[in-house]
Amino acid sequence: MKSSEVRTAFLEYFRSKDHRIVSSAPLIPKHDPTLLFVNAGMVQFKSIFLGDEKSRFSRAASCQKCMRAGGKQSDLENVGHTARHHTFFEMLGNFSFGDYFKKDAMLFAWELLTERFKVPKEKLYVSVYEEDDEAAGLWSKVIGLADDRIVRLGAKDNFWQMGDTGPCGPCSEIIIDQGSHMGCGKPDCAVGCDCDRFLELWNLVFMQFGRDEKGVLAPLPEPSIDTGMGLERISAVLQNKTTNFDTDLFEPIIRDISSLANIQYGSSHEKDASMRVMADHVRATVFMLSEGLVPSNEGRGYVLRRIIRRAARHAKLLNIHEPCLFRLIDSVSRAVGDIYPEIVTEMGRTEKLLKIEEEHFHRTIDTGMNRLDEIMEKVRQGGTGIIPGKVVFELYDTFGFPLDFARDIAMDAGLKIDEDAFRREMELQRERSKGNIGSFHLTAPMPAIKLYANAGRSEFVGYDTLTTSATVKYLYKDNKVVNVLQENEEGEIVLDKTPFYGGSGGQAGDTGIMTSGHALIRVTDTKKPNPDIYIHRVKVEKGSIKKDDAVFCNVDEISRKATMRNHTATHLLHRALRMVLGDHVKQSGSVVDPERLRFDFTHFSAIRDDDIKKVEDIINEKIWENLSVTTEIMSVDEATESGAVALFDEKYGETVRVVSTGNFSKELCGGTHCKATGEIGLCVVLSESSVASGIRRIEALTGKPALDHLKQKKSELEQIKNVLKTEKPLEKVEKLLDEMKSMEKEIQKLKTSSARDVISDALHNARELGGIKVVRMRQDGLNTDELRILADNVRDRLKSGIIVVSSVTDSQAAIVCMVTKDLTDRYNAGEIVKNISKIAGGRGGGKPDMAQGGTKDIAKLDEALESVYDIIRK
Ligand code: ATP
Ligand code: MG
Repeated sequence: MKSSEVRTAFLEYFRSKDHRIVSSAPLIPKHDPTLLFVNAGMVQFKSIFLGDEKSRFSRAASCQKCMRAGGKQSDLENVGHTARHHTFFEMLGNFSFGDYFKKDAMLFAWELLTERFKVPKEKLYVSVYEEDDEAAGLWSKVIGLADDRIVRLGAKDNFWQMGDTGPCGPCSEIIIDQGSHMGCGKPDCAVGCDCDRFLELWNLVFMQFGRDEKGVLAPLPEPSIDTGMGLERISAVLQNKTTNFDTDLFEPIIRDISSLANIQYGSSHEKDASMRVMADHVRATVFMLSEGLVPSNEGRGYVLRRIIRRAARHAKLLNIHEPCLFRLIDSVSRAVGDIYPEIVTEMGRTEKLLKIEEEHFHRTIDTGMNRLDEIMEKVRQGGTGIIPGKVVFELYDTFGFPLDFARDIAMDAGLKIDEDAFRREMELQRERSKGNIGSFHLTAPMPAIKLYANAGRSEFVGYDTLTTSATVKYLYKDNKVVNVLQENEEGEIVLDKTPFYGGSGGQAGDTGIMTSGHALIRVTDTKKPNPDIYIHRVKVEKGSIKKDDAVFCNVDEISRKATMRNHTATHLLHRALRMVLGDHVKQSGSVVDPERLRFDFTHFSAIRDDDIKKVEDIINEKIWENLSVTTEIMSVDEATESGAVALFDEKYGETVRVVSTGNFSKELCGGTHCKATGEIGLCVVLSESSVASGIRRIEALTGKPALDHLKQKKSELEQIKNVLKTEKPLEKVEKLLDEMKSMEKEIQKLKTSSARDVISDALHNARELGGIKVVRMRQDGLNTDELRILADNVRDRLKSGIIVVSSVTDSQAAIVCMVTKDLTDRYNAGEIVKNISKIAGGRGGGKPDMAQGGTKDIAKLDEALESVYDIIRK
């Protein structure tokens, strides 16, 4: 059975058992800051299991993309060393939300495995939680398993819980004995052993209890089922392979790696492990990049970076010394591209990013190598022969320089690394980063969803109208349900229906007023903690409001319309960016409110000014074309087919809302929009900047704020014109700058030439020493350049002789000496300046015909100058 057939057969089996087939949620759970990556099929149903959300169906099945790398549940270090662990894998799962329980979960799993998949019964074992007699009894009575096939294990293996509190319960695993040749050979090797012999295929979780703050378990009113089976593992079994890496999910990737490295798979244990690590990591990398994640130094991006580097390191161990992982994208796509279209559509971008990251890594290795050379030199001089673990760790931490690399290099140089110390540093680092997934662009923390669990659905009518009458269903104050809000009190209100948009998808919540009889209630914000609940934050300005009151709602039209302009313009911006910069542009976040729009997206360099102009021009052209904006509700599949731009961080329901602006753009979006693009009026891009590596941000204005911005610029320009007294300020400023430059020159000239008369005096006072004229003068206020010009002038007039000039400015004295060419065989300007400066407590020197020096000790200058004649005489 091909893996694609296994996947389909699984889902089809559960479809035939009345399960709703739900597509995989994205790997990256943007709305759950507590989780690095989705790591199990149940994650997308978490709020249903918690009772915060009502499911529209009671049975579901899925094939979920999972990542277990980084964070608490990481299998990163196992990869390559076991036959069964991956960082990225696909989890097949069936779920019951208060519907069937243990018995049916067992029946389904057993029937699928043994009848549909024909797994030999005699190879199967099950484990149950040691206290779960019910499960053990069902396996034996309903399924007919012999007692020696049912193994009881402790809480570590077979008791599951979602968190410290909340749903939990025993689990039961279905295990296949792969034969003693696959085992570790230890005498106590049995079900539960960590080796590859007794392979855990399928885990059935029986959500049976709720744990409260005190740790006390109480039976859940509606026990539920959550199961998970690794597609790679069951495929290996059904394809008669002893490792997941030999299945058709990995075979094409391994084959390409083997040909890149020119090494046969199976030729050595170590090389095989490297190939497996590469294959696993490249697959994970492709999935993560396809979802828009970018390598970085924190959080999820850091996990991605580590995985890429680890793969690149193993490529080096296979003697591939240039970027090569990006060449493997194609084989990943061949293996799973038809199931996960994002891999194919994002291929160009994935390739670009991966190549950049690999090149970066290779440079890193080179930098690290230089640093290591320096360190080794020091160690050699020190004579210990041992490289401290701490510095190797720093190399690892700052340059990503791997320990194995350092070890090999050190070994070649006859040195050793203190690896214990290295590991201690590593451990410290791990402690530091435990559970800390770094900072992301997360939306503001959700209000306590629990509080609103019973609030029920509110119907949203705000796409079509800004007013409606409605009934008050719930009132809250200070996180408690209340019956009434009095005058001047603040709180929250839930209605049966509402025209107020609840902030979500980057669009700010609506504001406005509600009235009820004589009561006036101001709505300051509207939130949507989950898709069906609308929470209005209110202040009662007049009168009071209580449960079941009828209210009339008025959304603030000016604010809402401004927000709509910004939202529709954001769609135009997104499309225009893709046109101008390329299809790698992908939204990574956005904020639209009445004031402005902010759009974050993937792109690899700063955007050139002329490209920004192009984008701005396209947007405004589309505004003036007055394209009609239409919305359609359709299934996710229809939406993908119609080419709507998908946003991976959204959690989609079964149907999606697609917003189109003419034929220009199409996006999945729940926001409110203009009826036609002409309503936007005008769009002005304010700024372009960097948010994180590979992510840029554009901020823009529309409508009145855009016009106000231009008006403001215009008024600034008017003021400038007034000050400059011209209609052509640019020309005028250029002219002024030119004038300023020539004035500066003039000033310099004046400063030196005003010394002319002084020159005459100095020449007049020149002394003759043995037939050689010596001119000495001090002219304060000149800098060194000016002083040199002065000396030049003296020399021109002196024709033959020695000149020493000095000047004090800014509490420093400068000295310049010149000896005319005819005398340089006998006198050296450099020597003369050196001696004078020395007497003045400073320094100087230069060439035989021209030299300069100086001192800070101005008091000594005159004395030094006095000595000139003596110096020359000597
Ligand atoms: P193991 O003990 O083998 O690591 P687990 O107890 O961590 O497995 P669960 O958390 O129960 O596994 O996940 C359910 C199923 O998902 C497992 O039975 C297995 O088939 C699969 N699975 C879990 N982790 C991985 C992984 N890292 N790579 C591939 N498949 C996995
Ligand atoms: Mg595990």
